[in-house]
Amino acid sequence: MAEEILRTEGLCKRFGSLEVLRGVSISVFRQEIVSVIGPSGSGKSTFLRCLNWLERPTSGQIMLAGQDIASLSGAQLRAARRGMGVVFQGYNLLMQKTVAENVAFPLRLEKGYDRAAVQARVAELLAIVGLEDRAGAYPAQLSGGQKQRVAIARALATQPEMLLCDEPTSALDPLTTKSMLALLTDINKKLGVTIIIITHELSVVQAICSHVAVISEGRLAESGAVADVFGSPRSAVTKLLLGREE
Ligand code: ADP
Ligand code: MG
Repeated sequence: MAEEILRTEGLCKRFGSLEVLRGVSISVFRQEIVSVIGPSGSGKSTFLRCLNWLERPTSGQIMLAGQDIASLSGAQLRAARRGMGVVFQGYNLLMQKTVAENVAFPLRLEKGYDRAAVQARVAELLAIVGLEDRAGAYPAQLSGGQKQRVAIARALATQPEMLLCDEPTSALDPLTTKSMLALLTDINKKLGVTIIIITHELSVVQAICSHVAVISEGRLAESGAVADVFGSPRSAVTKLLLGREE
């Protein structure tokens, strides 16, 4: 039986009177690639921000390897967050810094990384994402796909066991999307990183995910193995996303 790396239980988030998440419970097992899919505005990005504790849930729990995030001390919480790399929608790169400086950024706060160690680690990360030759470039000089690769390298800097990606391909053309998905699969297989992909694109889920959770209006509509959920969808929203409205 695979080991559970992350679980949410009845996760709720409201902003004032707006209930964005209304009790989302999902499980993610180690080394899977899972996706959270749903229409625009259904609460996907909010869900991802809650997982990383950038947003405090109003109620419900997030369990990391069986431990409730809310119960962690400050130091434990920082360690837990280092274990979850985040790739935000729109990349969030520092535009005045080079590719190498962007990737090095999370290492500034790490113990044991002197100048030489940072340089070595940055070279390693740029090789993983195939950008060895762009270390000195600035984000404005890069294509969308390349910027996304820098964001992925930066998210992997602290050797997280989990990578959370918010709409990693929604701004990319089909060919670049394909190579991005190949990269994520590679990272999953070679580095053993568990990946959670937030997307509204069915093709992304079908291409690389083993499991899918479908969210609609802040609620979990259904979840399971991709072949089961897409093969015989039970919820109206899944049928809608599949274009199989009956
Ligand atoms: P998705 O990523 O699925 O498109 P979001 O999680 O971004 O959905 O947003 C869900 C809803 O929550 C939207 O109505 C959005 O306006 C609202 N929302 C998200 N963040 C905030 C916030 N910080 N304050 C108020 N409302 C927010
Ligand atoms: Mg979003």
